[in-house]
Amino acid sequence: MNTLPSEFIAALAGIEQSAAPAILEAQSRDYFWYSPILAELLDDKRAQLIVTPANEAELERIASACATHGVPITLRGGGTGNYGQCVPLEGGIVCNVTKLNRVLAISEGKVRVQAGCLIADLERAMRAEGYEIKMYPSTRDIATIGGFIAGGYAGAGSVRNGILKDAGNVTAIEVLTLEPQPRRIMLRDADIQKVHHAYGTNGIILSLELSLNPAVDWVHHIALFGSYREALAFGCAATEAIHARAQSGIDAFLITAVERRIAPYYAAELGERFPSNADAVFSMVHPDALDAWRELMQRMGGRETMALTEAQLQAAKLPPAFECAYNHTTLMALRQDRSWTNLQTVAPWQAGKGIDLDLVDGQMARYGEEVLQHHEFGFQFGQCVAFGLPLVSYFDRERLYEIIADYERDGCMVFDNHVVTIEDGGMKEIDENQINFKRIADPQGLMNPGKTRGWF
Ligand SMILES: Cc1cc2nc3c(=O)[nH]c(=O)nc-3n(C[C@H](O)[C@H](O)[C@H](O)COP(=O)(O)OP(=O)(O)OC[C@H]3O[C@@H](n4cnc5c(N)ncnc54)[C@H](O)[C@@H]3O)c2cc1C
Repeated sequence: MNTLPSEFIAALAGIEQSAAPAILEAQSRDYFWYSPILAELLDDKRAQLIVTPANEAELERIASACATHGVPITLRGGGTGNYGQCVPLEGGIVCNVTKLNRVLAISEGKVRVQAGCLIADLERAMRAEGYEIKMYPSTRDIATIGGFIAGGYAGAGSVRNGILKDAGNVTAIEVLTLEPQPRRIMLRDADIQKVHHAYGTNGIILSLELSLNPAVDWVHHIALFGSYREALAFGCAATEAIHARAQSGIDAFLITAVERRIAPYYAAELGERFPSNADAVFSMVHPDALDAWRELMQRMGGRETMALTEAQLQAAKLPPAFECAYNHTTLMALRQDRSWTNLQTVAPWQAGKGIDLDLVDGQMARYGEEVLQHHEFGFQFGQCVAFGLPLVSYFDRERLYEIIADYERDGCMVFDNHVVTIEDGGMKEIDENQINFKRIADPQGLMNPGKTRGWF
């Protein structure tokens, strides 16, 4: 790796920066260590310099200096991505954007916000105005909104409002190009897909416009069931009911099913609210829908062990339901036992019914203690969906890919979370739209190099 040119360093004068080894290490990592395969691949990757612009003018100077001197740049928000998304594979600089964090404007159910804003801060600001954001990852309290758009997919809120990619959720993105004279480009509506989930490979996201919903004081809820099959059946029925909202009165922001063998990893936080002799559904229920929710839960064999607002949870020192969901479930297990990893799957959904419960029963029987089940319920592209995030006891790469092949034979899609490129982790296809935009926004291919197959 070449040392950074002295003219480049001079061009960054006055901008907060560090080359201290401990800072280089900390800011060159994300949560890639969930995957033993990525841990081996990425552990020693380091930026040569960390820069932290205080404002857009400094960010423009950084972009210009990188383009002028051919220095690779990797953007970093909260650094909570799971696939080494913000790990610099080819050195250069990591640019931490968390000081570009202002809410710029709120009007008519929309917010414009700088990309480095912490999602929790954004949500707090929206609530002060009577709004809430439509979805957030379970890392709401430590991730940035720009990182969510550039690296995330869905989260709490997706069972009600769809995924990030669904039309109308993110309505505009302003991008800064990586050129000697950086330009600002405003992408609107469908054009935002050019940079959404592109891992910061084709332009620096400066700000975003998101649509909002009226704020709801969601009730964080736990329902226990006598079997995982029953828990899943409830999740499927509730998800279907949300999308027939007018008829059913059911409404929720989050629905997550976690099987009982994962319960011991929740014990310190939740105790008897999720004991290891029952399977759980975590949810965030609309307060006006609580009676209907309880009625459906009881009819389907469930019993309630928690129903608290976020303020009540904080007072009781209990985690919010969204931190018992998505990749926080994996984190709960990994905190106690580093031999777990996970997969990202999508089970086929039959409209009006839900996922094939026999299929999940079969998977549980097939793997025994090797694979533990966890599903997230959502809505994407106009259809209900269940994302499977099973915990997998890691043996070796070969065995992991055998399990992936089993899931694919079962008719489940697998989004491989043990690879670093956008394409291999997604639909296995190069998104020409994104690559064409990269030719405009990053003509030298300096942004997060190595993360898109379309540019090799
Ligand atoms: C415990 C846990 C739970 C999680 N739950 C979810 C979940 O529910 N849903 C979900 O989708 N993800 C989830 N994730 C993944 C991750 O937390 C989210 O996607 C999160 O929103 C990423 O935000 P961040 O600020 O940490 O981004 P970072 O990790 O800092 O960056 C992510 C990607 O975006 C790029 N980037 C960052 N800022 C910019 C910018 N301004 N311009 C251009 N590119 C930029 C980075 O280069 C990187 O490629 C989870 C991860 C963990 C560890």
